[in-house]
Amino acid sequence: AKTGARSQFVIFDDDMQQRVAGRLATEHALRNAVSNEELVLHYQPIVALTDRRLLGTEALLRWERPGHGLLIPDAFIPIAEETRLIQTIDAWVIETACRQAVAWDHLEATMAVNLSARDLQQPDTADKISDVLRDTGLAARRLIMEITESTLVSDDATVAANLARLHALGIQLAIDDFGTGYSSFASLRQLPAQTLKIDRSFISRLGDDDATTAIVGAIINMGHALGLGIVAEGVERAVQAQLLHALGCDAAQGHLFAHPQPAAALERYLPATTIR
Ligand code: C2E
Ligand code: CA
Ligand code: CA
Ligand code: CA
Repeated sequence: AKTGARSQFVIFDDDMQQRVAGRLATEHALRNAVSNEELVLHYQPIVALTDRRLLGTEALLRWERPGHGLLIPDAFIPIAEETRLIQTIDAWVIETACRQAVAWDHLEATMAVNLSARDLQQPDTADKISDVLRDTGLAARRLIMEITESTLVSDDATVAANLARLHALGIQLAIDDFGTGYSSFASLRQLPAQTLKIDRSFISRLGDDDATTAIVGAIINMGHALGLGIVAEGVERAVQAQLLHALGCDAAQGHLFAHPQPAAALERYLPATTIR
């Protein structure tokens, strides 16, 4: 038993060492990713549930890491958030997405960008976003900042000041991953948000059990009572889209309509402004 325990310990130690080394290598490579132009944005359509008309797109970050292929955010955003690299990265994301939105001006669609809690904890974030609007010429109302429910209801004064400033600039705010936080009706009422995005975890169970359908219906009704537009995330099956439409949900996003993809790929069927 003794030797068994010992060898287990050794294996665990090696594994840990490898993980730490891998994390450091990732952090190091990520530091140069912006300047090496390894970051790319994929765009996913958000469509109206009534007629599948394109309402906007969400910019989703990808990292073309040499020797590692195309990485999704879960593989590097947590590291970026721990090391403050997220501010540099998100500044690049905002500028790139705004330029793309200007290039897609004829679509009259909104552009949604994800903001980390870390970004909003910096006092100058809203001012920097204001500068990007000025430099790119994008109308503020066309830009949507997606902020997770838990970040939005934080009582951090800097976060609140940034949100108020973004709202004053005319930028829209969306409550992202709704249903995963613990916000009260009272705290939601005070937010300067226009949109509520129902988290994918609810949508994926939609149609499987009556309880989920009732909960999603209640979220939609509550959101509407607060004057918010409702977007369902992660819609993969036609039955989910039908149910959401019947429940009064306004818009949807998910593989049923389109996967996130590079701008050029999306442009091939965007001119119709309706996703078929
Ligand atoms: P999110 O904001 O909730 O983004 C939606 C995620 O759902 C995306 O994952 C998208 O690819 C995925 N998705 C869309 N439709 C479907 C579907 O039908 N089925 C399934 N299973 N998934 C679907 P992705 O691109 O891996 O992004 C993950 C998270 O990373 C995002 O979650 C967001 O929180 C964060 N993120 C993405 N881009 C950025 C960025 O530029 N900055 C920051 N700070 N965070 C970002
Ligand atoms: Ca989002
Ligand atoms: Ca989300
Ligand atoms: Ca998320």
